[in-house]
Order: sequence, then structure tokens, then C-alpha cells
Amino acid sequence: MPSKPDEDARLRVRPPADHAAGLKAVQVSMARAVGQMGVVKATRNLLTLNQADGFDCMSCAWPDPQGHRHTAEFCENGAKAVSWEGVRDTVGPAFFAEHSVASLSEQTDHWLEKQGRLTHPMVRRPGGTHYEPLSWGEAFALVGEHLRGLAHPDEAVFYTSGRASNEAAFLYQLLARAYGTNNLPDCSNMCHESTSVALAGTIGIGKGSVTLEDLHEADLIVVSGQNPGTNHPRMLTALEIAKRDGAKILAINPLPEAGLLKFDNPQKARGLAGRGTELADTLLQIRSNGDLALWQAIGHLLLKAEEAAPGTVLDRAFIDGSTTGFEAWAAHVRDIDREAVLAATGLTWQQIEDAAAMLAGAKRIVHCWAMGITQHHNAVNTIKEFVNVALAQGMIGRPGAGLCPVRGHSNVQGDRSMGIWEKAPDFFLDALGAEFGFDPPREHGYDAAASVRAFRDRKAKVFVALGGNFVAAMSDTEVTAAAMRGAELTVQISTKLNRSHLDAGATALILPTLGRTEQDLTGGTVQRITVEDSMSEVHASRGRSKPAGPLLRSEVDIVCGIAAATLGDRHGIDWRAFTTDYDRIRDRIGNVVPGCSGYTERVDNGGFTMPHPPRDTRTFTTPEGRAVFSVSPLEVLQVPPGRLILQTLRSHDQFNTTIYGLDDRYRGIKAGRRVVFISKADLDELGFVDGDHVDLVSEWVDGERRAPRFRLVEYSTPKGCVAAYYPETNPLVPLDSQAAESGTPTSKAVIVRLEPAT
Ligand code: SF4
Repeated sequence: MPSKPDEDARLRVRPPADHAAGLKAVQVSMARAVGQMGVVKATRNLLTLNQADGFDCMSCAWPDPQGHRHTAEFCENGAKAVSWEGVRDTVGPAFFAEHSVASLSEQTDHWLEKQGRLTHPMVRRPGGTHYEPLSWGEAFALVGEHLRGLAHPDEAVFYTSGRASNEAAFLYQLLARAYGTNNLPDCSNMCHESTSVALAGTIGIGKGSVTLEDLHEADLIVVSGQNPGTNHPRMLTALEIAKRDGAKILAINPLPEAGLLKFDNPQKARGLAGRGTELADTLLQIRSNGDLALWQAIGHLLLKAEEAAPGTVLDRAFIDGSTTGFEAWAAHVRDIDREAVLAATGLTWQQIEDAAAMLAGAKRIVHCWAMGITQHHNAVNTIKEFVNVALAQGMIGRPGAGLCPVRGHSNVQGDRSMGIWEKAPDFFLDALGAEFGFDPPREHGYDAAASVRAFRDRKAKVFVALGGNFVAAMSDTEVTAAAMRGAELTVQISTKLNRSHLDAGATALILPTLGRTEQDLTGGTVQRITVEDSMSEVHASRGRSKPAGPLLRSEVDIVCGIAAATLGDRHGIDWRAFTTDYDRIRDRIGNVVPGCSGYTERVDNGGFTMPHPPRDTRTFTTPEGRAVFSVSPLEVLQVPPGRLILQTLRSHDQFNTTIYGLDDRYRGIKAGRRVVFISKADLDELGFVDGDHVDLVSEWVDGERRAPRFRLVEYSTPKGCVAAYYPETNPLVPLDSQAAESGTPTSKAVIVRLEPAT
């Protein structure tokens, strides 16, 4: 990939922040909102964001409070997301006539999206150098022609990003399955798939078991591999409420993230004055990939504490009555290899004992986690390990306790509930087939990594993306980009210009869609959509802003257009009818999706909570009919001499692959992104100093991968562990480096070496 303009020319490094939010968050939010949307639109959008009759934030999946909502029911990054979508700049035929695909490929990801909202259906034809406009009718016909022309439906892949609404997602999976394939990868494959696999195997359902109230009522909240201050900022309000009521917080993260240290709540005078709430009582700066070993050691210490004072630490009644496999797990952790634990975690035994004492002394514990846990080769086993501890203490299915994987994309959980899954279970396919009168394909489809392989190996030919920026989000960027360029057709349903529009198929389509803030008048009526958050709350969302352009169509309308052009009235499905009134879609959802009967009415009545047997009735729908303890080998990640463990992460001015700006205020980075956070000990040992520029090189069985020119930033991180932003470092993560069982890219533990920059 050609070298891009040097965005880092004005890079500056300052001391990291010791708190999150505060007055600065308000200033940044307002400046971005007014600067990008203007006063009137900014005011309307921010006052309806996350309100009961408003629109749902398109950023993370943090739940809205059920009762009272603040007038400003959003965080700084929610305001950035709304501003980024509501920007007044547009990208249309004139822009594309001026900029060739080749020249656009020279630009950075931040620059591309910053150009504005897409307004016209555009096509780049085979051999073409520029995108050119076409009509919606032509666009749908072109997709239909390509899909009908394939030798087998499995030559097509239907990718979904977590912003897609429940209605669009339900119809999209129906389109793919009525067409004949289960190739339905989604962004969850890259993030919480390890969670879904681990929880389904232990408690019988791949979703978190807590409500917002449980967090407020907990007396210990464990936050593992998560940076809530940037990725789920309203979670800080819940942590503050819990702290106010006496809760303790145990944070486990290689980096001392500002949002784990202190929260200056801008909704409170104390917070605006900088006298906010101290958060983590204990921060364990663990060595990357040391979490499995840590939780085995904690299990070991809890067992010892229980044996020393029976009935005071473990919940024997729950263990005996509702679980299986306890004895095997207990035997495994009873005989723990301390040296291995210390090598794996980089912690002292005293630190681990102190953490275990926090759990032993707590009565209501919530375990929260995110990518710092899920993107490792042994992520499924790691999650199962803290599930073991939660089960041993009976921390599931009772108030103030439970498992809380925090989803990073606003409706990624809803999309999965609607059937966006390459491995959909038979009970779902049976219900879908019964409802629509056809037999859906049963063979599992491609997940995200398998999709890249299929395009690389020319087994797949057509790629359709419902939102997202697949090329930038996926690991092994060069391989993924080349695979996409090898496709016959790529179709991107998007709001803004991004990398995936440039590393695209021989024929490439861009189909501009409405955003969450915008009014949806499809079918000549005011339409609403629905989403499901991290805590299984389903609710409606309705945008009010005037669309960025008159030609924009809703996700539902576009999916139906493609379906009608591809399938006609196959199986008697009347796709056009769905666009007249989305209640027609919701009625079908109610007939197919477990726990959604009466969907339309329940949404009309303010929304509802999806069923969760372990949370609701301490029922475990595992094959054993019980919650399952697991036994996993204790692993110490081996790192060759002179190599380091790299974790890829977001800056505070970023949401997934969307780069809102070039600052990372919490980590002291200004006007730049190509930085590596590294400890003083590693700088000294490797003969570098703060400010040096290096290339990052990862080593894999199939060779080396290089990401050039990063500035070294001395930082508080465990020895041997470094961190840098994605997507800039995604080229270093080999496609085949995936988590066992779940296939999630191992982006949190990439073995790299540093070389003086070339
Ligand atoms: S916490 Fe997440 S969902 Fe809520 S406003 Fe912020 S970014 Fe949006």
C-alpha cells in the first residue's frame, strides 16, 4: 500500500490524563457538534440522542437507563459519533469525478471519512479509474445480475456491521438464506465471538446476564481487558453509582487507562470542578495474555479460603444444585504452578492474593470484559476461567451479580439475535423455514476470516457489506485488501467514504444509506427501527434530522431492493411490502426469533428485555442442563528474546475503524496516530529512547509483516508489552492467527520486534 500523507508531522506527546471526562469532555463534545452540524442540528440531535422517543446512539452498545434519563443522555464519544454522521459536508458525483480511486487510496482513513456523507449510488466499473453515478434501479439490477450469475450461492458473502438495525438485519439474513447461503459473517466475529462461544458452552447462552441495576447494586465490579472511559463512557456513571453505594472496583489491564482511575462526571458540579469519583480500588497492570493464569490463581486462592472457613466464600448450594464439573476444576486449580502464574501475569503473588481477597469478601460481583480478553488465541478458555470463579461463588442469576461482556457496537447483539450468524442453530432455521415456507441452508457459512480466505482463493466472488469498513477492521490488511480487490463485485451499504470502497472488487458499488439521526420516510410513512443493547434491552430508535441527501435510502429499503432484484418473488416473499411499514418486519421477527413474540406491541410499549434463562430463572440450557465448570491448561505466552507482545487498541478519538480526530487526550497524544506505547525498561533493554521511530515487524509461519514508522512513547505498561492503534497495526495480525474455537483475530497479543525506521 503506497505511503500516505504524514498525518503525524505535528505529533506531540504530553503526560497521560489521570481522570476521564470532566469539563474538557463537554468542551470537545460541543465543539465537534456545533462545528460539524451547526447549532440547530446539533441541539436537536443531542437533545434526542438516547432519549425514550429519540434515536439510539450509533456508537457503543451501552444501555440507556430505564427510568429517568439526563437531558444530555450521552457521552463525549456519543457526541462525536452523532457529529461525524450529522456533518454537513457531502461526497457525491462531483467529488468522485475529481478524485480517482488511486488518488483516494493515497489518503488516510481519517481523511477519507472526514470528506462527508455519501449522497448518491456510485459504481466503479471494471477497468474504471473513477466512481460514477448510477440509479438505484440500475444498482439493484447489477447486484441481482451478479448474484443470479454465480455458480453457487456460497460464492456470495453477506457481511454485517453492528450498526445495522434489527429490521434490516432480519431481512438481510432472510435474503441470504432465501438465496441459499449461510455466509453471514459479522463484526462480532472480530470482537466478542470468543464471549459467545465461551458463554454458550458454560451457561447455555452467548450473552451477558446483568442489567444496569445489577451494576449499581454490586459490591465488587471486576473490569478486565476493557477501557470504558473511551469505549463505553456512560459505564463510568454506573461505576460511580456503585462506588457511591460502597462498591469496590478491581481493574485488570496492562495500561493505567484514565477511565479506570477517576471519573469527573460532567453531569455533576463536583465532576466539572475536577473533584470526581476515584474508580479502581486496585489496578492490576497484567502482562498481555496473563488473564487465564490470573483467574486460575484466584480460583486456587478462593478454594483455599473456602477450605479454611467453609461456607464463607463459595456457594455450595448453587454448585451442587445447578452446576457440573466443579470437582474437576477444583482439582485442577488446587494444584496451581505459582511460577507459571507469575511468569504469565507479570504480577506478584501478593497482588494476586489481594485481588482474590476482594472476591472472597464480596457478596455481589459483576465481571465486565471486552476486547482485551476476547482477542487472544486462548480467549475462550480465559472467559471460561472467570466464569468458573463466578459459578463457584454463585454470582449469576441474582441481583447485583453476573457476567457483563460489554459490546462495542450499538446493535451487534441485536443482529446476532436476528439471525446474523454463519453458524445459526437449527431451531432458528426451522422457525425461519416454517415462517417463510422454504428450507434454509444448513451448512455453516464463512466467518470473517474464512470469507477473506474464500475471496483470496477465488472461491467467493460477490461481497455485500451492510455497513462497516471490512478492509480496515479485518486483520492482515494487505491480504484482506488483495482478496477484496479480487472479487467480481463488492457492494458497500455505507454512510461515509472509507477504505473498503477503494480496496474493492472489479465492479464496485457504493450505496448511500440513512444514518440513525435521520428521518426515515420509506414507504411514505415515518418509520422506526429497533436495536438490542449489551444488556439485552430491545427498544426503538427514530431519527428526526433531514437526510444528508434526497437519494439516500434506508438499510431496509436497500436490502429489499437487492432481494427483489435477485430473488423476485421466490418463496412468495413480498420484499416491497416490508418497505411500506416496518411493523410487517417486526411481526415476522415476532414469529421467528425466540423471545420476540408480540414484538411489535412490546416495542410500541417502550421496549422489552430479551430472555436470558440463567439471569431470569438460574436455568442453564447447556446439553448438561446445568452450568458447566471447565478445565483449561494454564498457559504462559512464550516470547522469543528481543520480541515484545503488541496489543492493538483505539485512541480516545476513535470508534472501531472510524477516526474522528488525531488526538488521544487520555494517553497524552496530540495530532498523531503512529505511536507505540512502551515501558522505560524495554526502551533501555532494546537500546531505544522515547521519540525514536521504529518499524514494527511481526513474525508468523508464513513470513513477516511490517508496519512502518511509529514513534516510541515511554509509557506505564508491563515489561515486554507494547500497545499501538488499529487499523494502522492490523497489517501485523496474520489472518490465520485466530482464537481457538471462536476464530477471533488475536489482536491483543501479536509478537513483534522493533527495527529502526527505514
Ligand atoms: S456510552 Fe456508548 S452508547 Fe452511550 S452515548 Fe456514549 S458511545 Fe453512545
